[in-house]
Amino acid sequence: MKLILLGAPGSGKGTVSEQLIKDFRLQHISPGELLREEVKKNTTIGREIQKYIEAGKLVPDQFVVEMVKLEVKGKDNFILDGFPRTVSQAKSIDDLNIDSVIYLEVPEAVVIERFSGRRVCPQCNTGYHVKYLPPKKAGICDKDGTKLIIRKDDDPKVIKERFKVFHAETKPLIDYYTKQKKLRVVNGNDAPRSVYQAVKRLLNH
Ligand code: AMP
Repeated sequence: MKLILLGAPGSGKGTVSEQLIKDFRLQHISPGELLREEVKKNTTIGREIQKYIEAGKLVPDQFVVEMVKLEVKGKDNFILDGFPRTVSQAKSIDDLNIDSVIYLEVPEAVVIERFSGRRVCPQCNTGYHVKYLPPKKAGICDKDGTKLIIRKDDDPKVIKERFKVFHAETKPLIDYYTKQKKLRVVNGNDAPRSVYQAVKRLLNH
């Protein structure tokens, strides 16, 4: 199965992906994670990429498209989480025969509230929320005991820019994939468990 997950920043793409990869044995391909890994390495490219991420802008295609294409090469079961984010990126993978595009629909006000509690494990990238998806021990990753952090691009000013980019660049993909008859809309404004059940039901049909 080849899936794309679409959604505004904070719509729950990462959380849904984490569960899907376990249940459906899919490979998780997240350019956001791959880019953050590159930033961590502190290479020249990494430092260049960091500027875009921390400003809430899209990283230019030259860094992203080839990277994603290399990751999906030869794979038949994967979930693309955070790619494509523009129509030109979507066109670059039209030959992959994607089965479904899941759009997690969440009102902007809800998403902004979610951001305030968002935490992530810097070691294994597992996402948490202090209220909606808390770790067993406050501030500590359930999986590896690492201290959780707030992502730099979850700062309110950066979030505003990420939303601007989402509306201008990513929303047109809804039309794009509706025309390809691949779009499935899921209400993402619910408890993480319920959202996931809705996604699962959709994929089992
Ligand atoms: P994410 O973890 O998916 O929220 O992505 C975090 C950041 O990585 C985004 O705000 C962008 O700066 C960058 N990024 C992730 N995916 C892409 C993409 N498909 N195209 C360009 N930049 C991306």
